[in-house]
Amino acid sequence: MLTGNDTLRLVPHPKARDQAISIKKLEAGSLILSTPSFASILLATQKGHRCDTCFRLPADGTSLRRCTGCGSYWYCDLDCQTEQWHAHHKRICKNYTKFTASLAFQSLRVHERNDSLLLSHLLAHLSLLSTPYAPEDSSPLSIFLSLLPSPVPDMSVPPVCPISPTPPLDLLRTLYTRFGNNNFAIHSHLTTIGHGVFPLASRLFNHSCVPNAAARYSLSPSHGLWMEVIAIRDILSGEETCIPYLDPAMTQSRHQILELTYGFRCDCSACLYIRSLGTLPELPTEPTELDDLGRQLREFVGIKDTLLLAPTLPSKSLESTPSSLHAVFHEAYMSSLSGTFSRCSHDGDYDIALDSGITLLALYILIYPPGYPQIGMHLLELAKTQWNAGIVLPNPSTEERSKVKEQTRVYLSLARSILQIYGPEGDDVGPLQEIKILESLLIEE
Ligand SMILES: [Zn+2]
Ligand SMILES: [Zn+2]
Ligand SMILES: [Zn+2]
Repeated sequence: MLTGNDTLRLVPHPKARDQAISIKKLEAGSLILSTPSFASILLATQKGHRCDTCFRLPADGTSLRRCTGCGSYWYCDLDCQTEQWHAHHKRICKNYTKFTASLAFQSLRVHERNDSLLLSHLLAHLSLLSTPYAPEDSSPLSIFLSLLPSPVPDMSVPPVCPISPTPPLDLLRTLYTRFGNNNFAIHSHLTTIGHGVFPLASRLFNHSCVPNAAARYSLSPSHGLWMEVIAIRDILSGEETCIPYLDPAMTQSRHQILELTYGFRCDCSACLYIRSLGTLPELPTEPTELDDLGRQLREFVGIKDTLLLAPTLPSKSLESTPSSLHAVFHEAYMSSLSGTFSRCSHDGDYDIALDSGITLLALYILIYPPGYPQIGMHLLELAKTQWNAGIVLPNPSTEERSKVKEQTRVYLSLARSILQIYGPEGDDVGPLQEIKILESLLIEE
């Protein structure tokens, strides 16, 4: 199958439907695919804070304009409002408030409400085609309908906002059964802000828990909302390009989710290894034992207790993890480290924050593939915490000050080497700018 770009070719896969093979060698950071959203919704928590068309935050000193019809959609400006009005909103505006206040909608769970609104946007858009609801050759709709349906039997379709002309019931069902296993979380600076349908990306990319590519999102007032798939490491010509459908940190739950929601068993090296471990040893409950586990993990990955001054990050294969460390694969371990890190960075308990933050870095290095953007974001957070820890030192000696600066500089440069590959995502002022600002502070000092 032709993919509409000069980077990928779809060829048969022994187990999945097809695989997207790269036609040429791709360097880390290469743009593999750029594709517009076919339908999208902002998360309820973002409504009124971001533009409903391009998902951007309002520019400094400006506020969003609200739809005077329904009072429930917000836009950067008249252009974004006009664009969405013609794309789908004119079919929804009149009935939106009554629909979302209805018992049928109110009794839905959060993810079902998201699906209901996304489906409403999609149907409203399809109702406005020159031949409503009809898939034309190689249109986004025909690609979306060609995707495999969810493996969940007898899914009940959530209620949708009344739209005229009424969509055919079987189309409604066909669309909805492709939602759960094909929709994407849209993020800005790696934080989820919405959900969207990107049929071509769904058609092209298989999943991997050790992916060589990742999706980022471009929010532009003139260009709209686009997904860009980026090579996060060098990809050889003829190699399959994969993205993660789930966070690779979901070491325990992903097997079940991939089977139930996506209908396949992942047999990547990481999944085979984690499955081979069977029941994981319990996580220690005593704080001293937990500290000890963290220390052993850092040592194994190659990070000294308090200092990380190497110009490159160490790397360790998951499969070489000794059995004394298998408890770190409990998802609860990562959430507890990351909870302690954020809480203590925020509260100013910097010693504890740095201790759990460095252990978390070791865990990320072990679990995520090299170049994975979350590692870069965490290094930036470590840099900020290290810098703040230096500021509150009482009467620091010259040596202490230069140690703090050197450590911050190392975190920043490691963060940049990863985040530059992933490139800018979402809102304007992102992690790459934050790195620049911190670096200039280091020079001024
Ligand atoms: Zn906008
Ligand atoms: Zn409206
Ligand atoms: Zn896997």
